[in-house]
Amino acid sequence: MLASIAAVPAPVAAPVTAIAASTAAVRQKTLKTSIGCSGIGLHSGARVAMTLKPGQPDCGIVFHRTDIAGAGAVIPARWDSVGDTRLNTCVANGKGVVVRTIEHLMAALAGSGVDNAVIEINGPEVPVMDGSAAPFLFLIECAGVVEQSAARRHLEIRRPVVVKDGEKMAMLTPSRGFGVSFEIDFDSAAIARQSFGLALRGGAFKTQISRARTFGFEHEVHQLRAAGLARGGSLDNAVVIGEGRVLNEEGLRYEDEFVRHKILDAVGDLYLAGGPILGQFRGVRSGHALNNRLLAELFSDRANYEWVVLEPAMLEPVAEAPARRRVAANA
Ligand SMILES: [Zn+2]
Repeated sequence: MLASIAAVPAPVAAPVTAIAASTAAVRQKTLKTSIGCSGIGLHSGARVAMTLKPGQPDCGIVFHRTDIAGAGAVIPARWDSVGDTRLNTCVANGKGVVVRTIEHLMAALAGSGVDNAVIEINGPEVPVMDGSAAPFLFLIECAGVVEQSAARRHLEIRRPVVVKDGEKMAMLTPSRGFGVSFEIDFDSAAIARQSFGLALRGGAFKTQISRARTFGFEHEVHQLRAAGLARGGSLDNAVVIGEGRVLNEEGLRYEDEFVRHKILDAVGDLYLAGGPILGQFRGVRSGHALNNRLLAELFSDRANYEWVVLEPAMLEPVAEAPARRRVAANA
């Protein structure tokens, strides 16, 4: 099966010319071994089994629906494969095969620096686990991560890109590292206005973001279920707000868990760019749809971005980092 997955075309935004790996370049990474889990889908409520497997260099993150035969079973996790963005990010291939609610898994892969992996799944939705990225991060840590021979491509933001939808806004601006900031403003006393931002390097994703759970409102549950959403949602996998307060007995994992979860979602959605971003993301009331539109806008003009290969020293904190050496031009 790996052979056919390797035949998936390279991301459209990536350079056509392969980048030769020099000994000094930051390398691509994959999982050391396979590891699996099972659980229910947040929206479908259906039980699924999922196995994270090592991927070949340059294959990216690829979903493989093991319950579907033939080439239609393969779906690349890329921004231009995104379909439905109602309360989840769903990827689809041209044959109508989908995998839903990929964003928390994608965030864990981004946070672990995994470039290449094959995600086998026997149903149409990634298991929600506890509603955060922490269980996926744990799986990846258990499997281990190894460097591969190919150089890692970073997506450098060259000029500001912004998309808006009413009061919602998402933006990427040039920066020497990857940073995310987010602002939310809900008409609920339990959430209200929250803002948070951080530089995502070292263990910041794991300690600051990964445990933040998805959330929803009790009064919306009936309506969502009628629309085929949140059917697997419960206090075990979401923070539920009712009458202005958090209904989960255990309370919150972070005081501002809601805005941190929005950052978690953005990290996962942005990893569909096809590589790690060198830029600053800012979201104001943004969500999966606008995050995806931001990537479409970014890739609509080649002057907005450049794929670059870095040496490890260039990933050090800004003050200590030498000037970046560009070895890849946009195709
Ligand atoms: Zn989420």
